[in-house]
Amino acid sequence: MKRLVILGCGESGVGTAQLGKAKGFQVFVSDFGSIQKEYKDVLKHYEIEWEEGQHTTSKILKADVVMKSPGIPETVPIVKQLLSQGISVVSEIEFAAEFTDSKIIGVTGSNGKTTTTMMVHHILKYAKIEAVMAGNIGDSFAKEINKNPDYFVLELSSFQLDGINNFRPNIAIITNIKPDHLDRYDNNFENYIASKFRIVMNQSPSDYLIYDADDPVIEAYMKSHKIQSILMPFSLKKSLERGAFYKDKKITIINNKNTIHMPTSNLALEGKHNIKNAMAAATAAHLLKIRKETIRESLECFQGAEHRLENVLKINKVHYINDSKATNVNATYFALESMNAPTVWIVGGVDKGNDYSVLYPFVNEKVKAIICLGTHNDKLFENFESMVDIIIETQFMSEAVKIAYKVASAGDNVLLSPACASFDLFKNYEDRGQQFKTAVREL
Ligand code: ADP
Repeated sequence: MKRLVILGCGESGVGTAQLGKAKGFQVFVSDFGSIQKEYKDVLKHYEIEWEEGQHTTSKILKADVVMKSPGIPETVPIVKQLLSQGISVVSEIEFAAEFTDSKIIGVTGSNGKTTTTMMVHHILKYAKIEAVMAGNIGDSFAKEINKNPDYFVLELSSFQLDGINNFRPNIAIITNIKPDHLDRYDNNFENYIASKFRIVMNQSPSDYLIYDADDPVIEAYMKSHKIQSILMPFSLKKSLERGAFYKDKKITIINNKNTIHMPTSNLALEGKHNIKNAMAAATAAHLLKIRKETIRESLECFQGAEHRLENVLKINKVHYINDSKATNVNATYFALESMNAPTVWIVGGVDKGNDYSVLYPFVNEKVKAIICLGTHNDKLFENFESMVDIIIETQFMSEAVKIAYKVASAGDNVLLSPACASFDLFKNYEDRGQQFKTAVREL
């Protein structure tokens, strides 16, 4: 019997444990922190051996294969020890993919993964193709593997991709690449870029790569690295001979001699970044030969994910918009860009080394007031004080929303798009978004 050891017992850990058990492995789960009760119940139910609050080296080093959860860096001692002994350490995606013949559409990138994954899944479902969405979104891939759908649509983080050897998506999508999580990549952007591009490393010449041709980081990487797969770029700026582009308010997609055009005026989601996401998703759908009308209709009724430029309410002709998931400057850039009225902007939290200068033009043009919502707001004041008449700080969401309500006039937007992580004042970005929505509803 082969021994599978699982390090870290969150969604992907518990999913892998279940799958390993079902496939006849002797499974041992080890979490250095504490394991949530619901996951413990699953482990007990399947009679899987586990420990928490420690890593018992002797039990771990007996492994034939180790699944490391994405949150654990490769630098922790136990992982170093495993690697030095030549024991295979893989991610959940790698482990699970061995057990399915379903086709795979994998989505990675710095921003837009969740939205694009959901869009692809939505179009496939709308076209009545059997599709299951998994990975960083919802249930783990390992847990869903037995469903054997025609297609898995997987949201893939760079950490999941770091742990692959043979994983091969038939269609890969890279939405964009901006510096993020650099603490896990020796503060070296090149390492992070290489990690994202692992999504194509096992692709064959009959597989596809869909990517943002306007992204200078992606373009530079592709100039210096040979990629086997068929390239399907998308662009907001230039016409392309193959791939998707946006011109005259229409999306055109060209694959060999097969061209389709789709108007974008009725797309359910707003913002240039969502046209990019729609181009990526529609290209994947076009490659699966889904009809143009089906793609167009499905995108028109696609409701975006919560906390991503989510329209909350309109009160006294003021729009309240929740973009709590904008935890970096790039995401906030697209949020501010898509604002079409004077905006009261709620921003702040844990700054991950942000360079705010790319936002200056939008702030000068569209932002009438700034409400800083973090424990340390000095950097926001330094950057934006001279650009707006009103800049205020608070540590409470309810107060931030009340101030916004006072400052905004009919026709304005109130936008929560923090450009920062949420851990100083909130549990996570979902909590921050929920508190915003609750405060708006209480107005
Ligand atoms: P991810 O799963 O990669 O974090 P999400 O779809 O959850 O991406 O979106 C995260 C944030 O980025 C949201 O604020 C959203 O509005 C914004 N966003 C979505 N798509 C893009 C894109 N293509 N480029 C830049 N920002 C985007």
